[in-house]
Amino acid sequence: MTPKIPPHTLWRPGVSATVRRVAETLRAHGPRTRAELVSLSGLSRASVSTALAELSAADLVTERTGPSDRSAGRTLGGRPASVVRLTRAAGIAAGVDIGRRHVRVALADLDHDVLAERQTHTDFDADDRPHEVLELAAGLLTDALSDITADRDEVVGVGLGVPAPITHDQRIGARPMLPGWADLRPSDAFGDLIRLPVRAENDANLAALGEYVWGAGRGCTNLVHVKLGTGVGAGIVLDGRLYRGAAGTAGELGHVTLDARGPVCRCGNRGCLELAVGGRALLAHARQANAGLADLAALIAAARAGDPGCRRLITDAGGQLGYALGNLVNLINPQRVVLGDELGSATDLLREPLQRGLAETAIASAAEAVEVVRSELASRAGALGGVALALGANPRG
Ligand SMILES: [Zn+2]
Repeated sequence: MTPKIPPHTLWRPGVSATVRRVAETLRAHGPRTRAELVSLSGLSRASVSTALAELSAADLVTERTGPSDRSAGRTLGGRPASVVRLTRAAGIAAGVDIGRRHVRVALADLDHDVLAERQTHTDFDADDRPHEVLELAAGLLTDALSDITADRDEVVGVGLGVPAPITHDQRIGARPMLPGWADLRPSDAFGDLIRLPVRAENDANLAALGEYVWGAGRGCTNLVHVKLGTGVGAGIVLDGRLYRGAAGTAGELGHVTLDARGPVCRCGNRGCLELAVGGRALLAHARQANAGLADLAALIAAARAGDPGCRRLITDAGGQLGYALGNLVNLINPQRVVLGDELGSATDLLREPLQRGLAETAIASAAEAVEVVRSELASRAGALGGVALALGANPRG
């Protein structure tokens, strides 16, 4: 007789290791066929079958033949293969994206269907009031849960994005980047507020994960997502995994040096890419000619409307970004570069100077292999990346 898994205990101790492995594989990878589950979990076909019988008896998985976003068209012995999915009863994953002036929240079921998204803008800088921002995020999470009439108990994990590098021990990896948060461990501070397991990650890394699972990076195992907002950061996915580096701070593309004698950057070094391409720097330059420009969106709109100064700034930014990306492309040879965040919306204006800069620094074969595309998720990427982190993160134990 198949043992019965009691409700709400799937991610708690007491569940057999085999059942746990199959459930974690589905949670991380989304709907899968039995053959894929065998291959991804490393378990035998018999073990997967036994585990699925247990999960099915507890209404935690469904299995049916038919079209599926990830398994459409797959066949087994000439017949369409049936696809296994975790049900809503298996839980919900949450993502939270904290920016300098925004907070966004997303919820998805463990079948990778996005269920709710909420966002708000703040009239203060997140660095000045970390506790206030975290409380705002907790409130937004509660609102999103009530949008789908879900309880907090159903949430199996939370991925939290912050605009700074995060070390492997979940601390801020570069104090000058977010000084107001430097003594905080963001995952603990937020976890204490919402009483759920939280894992923090750099926001650019999360945006890369979001695009990889739901956006412009789908189907691509080597990808770089460049976040072009107030600051500049990159998330790197290599062989289908987020590359974090020895200290967890890989992908700080905004702080590669373009000019070692250039102006001093907020990171403490000179001549960083961010000073040529970051929204903060671009806006400061543009305001020298047009003091009335409200924000980066207004700068992009002015460039589109033919303002020569704004146009020139974006063209030059594209060229500088191309140089930096050419170096990155030489090192890791990605298949796709996704341009995201606010300036990513101007990919059409950046593309030509960027491709020229890239061609001048990247070796020909690597430059030819890489495709530069605009983000599909735009401002949603960070929070959805938080969901992706929670889907693959250590479950509640
Ligand atoms: Zn810097």
